[in-house]
Amino acid sequence: LAAEPTSPNPQYGTHGDLTSSGPSEKMNATFVTLARNTDLWEIARSIRQVEDRFNRNYHYDWVFLNDKPFDETFKKVTSSLVSGKTHYGEIKEEHWSFPSWIDQDKARKVREDMAQRKIIYGDSISYRHMCRFESGFFFRQPLMMNYEWYWRVEPSVELFCDVNYDPFKFMRDNKKKYSFVISLYEYVETIPTLWDSVKKFMKNHPEHIAKDNSLALISDDGGDTYNKCHFWSNFEIGNLEWLRSKQYVDFFEALDKDGGFFYERWGDAPVHSIGASLLLDKSEIHFFNDIAYYHVPFTHCPTGEETRLKLKCHCDPKNNFDWKGYSCTSRFFDLNKLEKPAGWEKEQ
Ligand code: GDP
Ligand code: MN
Repeated sequence: LAAEPTSPNPQYGTHGDLTSSGPSEKMNATFVTLARNTDLWEIARSIRQVEDRFNRNYHYDWVFLNDKPFDETFKKVTSSLVSGKTHYGEIKEEHWSFPSWIDQDKARKVREDMAQRKIIYGDSISYRHMCRFESGFFFRQPLMMNYEWYWRVEPSVELFCDVNYDPFKFMRDNKKKYSFVISLYEYVETIPTLWDSVKKFMKNHPEHIAKDNSLALISDDGGDTYNKCHFWSNFEIGNLEWLRSKQYVDFFEALDKDGGFFYERWGDAPVHSIGASLLLDKSEIHFFNDIAYYHVPFTHCPTGEETRLKLKCHCDPKNNFDWKGYSCTSRFFDLNKLEKPAGWEKEQ
């Protein structure tokens, strides 16, 4: 049974910023991907889906970053897939190495210990550089300085629905600075002292803490302990100027000085999430129900059949993680007094 078209241009839904002549206004925005040359075919799949579901109508640029030079095949294939301009940047060593104050012996012992305890990526040096880079440096790469907004894309992710409006424009118009589609609890073994560092930062920089913050989302006891909730950062649409602000850079540098990227295995997801929760007003963080997304092993499939049909979604709503016990998204709705999408109870 075909759905009755309800608007003269049903393909583009109700936001109405796409006309037959294309988007009405282009934002100063880019996709950004950190990848190795060996990630080529996995990132190619992600790009193809982002293009088919969104960017073929918008032609935003795409910045690729790597700690090594990209090879010709990587550039040839990715530039043929992206409908906007592509840029390729090599990360300078300072942004992908041990800072001078890190005790190498101590860091090595931690890696050996974590390997024994089978903590995911616990023995990896490059993964730690990656997490520190994504936490503190991607937004200040020379190629990123020209842009105000970013959308992070990783290899092997999927987009299951049309994105029929411009999320960058949505964020600007609605005064959003950071956004997510999946939230969950962090493995405590990777961040045992992260919250101690955060508390020290809060004490040293009360002037940076937003008045109407989301501390209650990430702490159940007024800030004494961290409940491990975080937004999954392999998907992010956000404002680069916020990340480049004194508030966020001071926050990152305070954490970096404490060494937990190397003495533990702090992820960029809890770092961005805690930063957003403390430094932004809670109204500045957005949950995109209508951007359907998969990164192994979790799916965000929009709640609400009407949305899924309108956006030609191909995800199985049974796989939606939002309202399951290990997701923090329910807490986000409760804190912000948002009405949950109709039908959410059936997906618990
Ligand atoms: P996971 O999602 O936490 O399992 O980690 P991934 O393996 O997906 O890595 C996160 C992102 O960093 C992906 O975009 C990877 O392509 C990228 N990445 C991870 N390690 C490296 C590395 O050593 N060099 C480069 N250039 N990119 C990396
Ligand atoms: Mn990944």
